[in-house]
Amino acid sequence: LNSIIRKIAHNMKLESDCKLDFNNVLIRPKRSTLSSRSEVSLERKFKFPHSQLTWEGIPIMAANMDTTGTLKMHQELVKHKIITCLHKFHTPEIIKEHIDSNGVLDTNYITITTGISDTDFENLVQISKVIDIKFICIDIANGYMEKLVKYCQRVREAFPEQIIIAGNVVSREMVEELILNGKVDIVKVGIGGGSACLTRKKTGVGMPQLSAVIECADAAHGVGGYIISDGGITCPGDMSKAYGGGADFVMVGGQFAGHEQNPGELIEENGKKYKLFYGMSSSHAMNKHYGNMANYRSSEGRVIKVPFKGDINDTVLDYLGGIRSTCTYINAHCIKHIPKCTTFVYVSQQLNNPYNN
Ligand code: 5GP
Repeated sequence: LNSIIRKIAHNMKLESDCKLDFNNVLIRPKRSTLSSRSEVSLERKFKFPHSQLTWEGIPIMAANMDTTGTLKMHQELVKHKIITCLHKFHTPEIIKEHIDSNGVLDTNYITITTGISDTDFENLVQISKVIDIKFICIDIANGYMEKLVKYCQRVREAFPEQIIIAGNVVSREMVEELILNGKVDIVKVGIGGGSACLTRKKTGVGMPQLSAVIECADAAHGVGGYIISDGGITCPGDMSKAYGGGADFVMVGGQFAGHEQNPGELIEENGKKYKLFYGMSSSHAMNKHYGNMANYRSSEGRVIKVPFKGDINDTVLDYLGGIRSTCTYINAHCIKHIPKCTTFVYVSQQLNNPYNN
């Protein structure tokens, strides 16, 4: 059988090693000197390969989606030293209005998102006149486009000091290209793994997230950069696995949606409460921001009614508690130590859940 697989691999360019998602593995417990979760610190301090700035906080990011990357979410997440990636439809006017109405705005915990068009660039420059931008996130769905590296260089020239993030990609060569030639500090990793994502279905393209993280983290760390694991977090355990695989930051969309603080009306159906969560390339988002969806593209995002979850702070504390607990099981005193304390075991069943809840 092996020789047949090798033959197929040779003829069809098949990579025959098995790529893994979070639910394919568990983290093996190890002897630990930690006796309480309270002994674990979740803060991490970073120096970057290009930016001269440093950053300290909990390396979690709310996704730059309409439903999670908002100024209102920032007001809550900043209390936990978590970053909110504002979605790219924030204009200088919206940000100014927020500041004028005494809204909290701590630029240490905000990233400004930009696409790669001239209009996007102009918007970024205008925002930089209103606030002291620390993080810039250059975000396109397909980070393999040649244009992305050129745009990164343009942003780096205009913003030599700032911490620049770019993505999304899922393989070593593009991580190196973005850090070395694009002069970015952090690469955003993940294609097709998001909860509101239809890319794998519509295009057949993607890469299991844990393997993407392991490969890309190794590449980034080799050249002094960092990565964000973006997409596919379904529970606190997944976040620990992402750190275990080498992710420096973890970005969360769906799991941070559906709260009081997320935008959108509360929907009530048959006595149950929901909030709308949708992909940024869904027809819903396209219609909202562009009036319609161009004929040449198909919707690569889902619209989901997520059960109402109450206060975002409770969800965040549940996640932070989960990561602390992982640390006590593997003797990691802080998030930075998780990868060196992690050994994954490959499993055929992640959870024993006879009650389906
Ligand atoms: P989640 O945490 O919900 O699993 O994943 C969030 C990530 O999904 C986002 O940060 C972004 O990378 C990705 N995403 C958001 N909207 C869309 C979309 O419409 N299509 C696709 N393919 N990915 C999306």
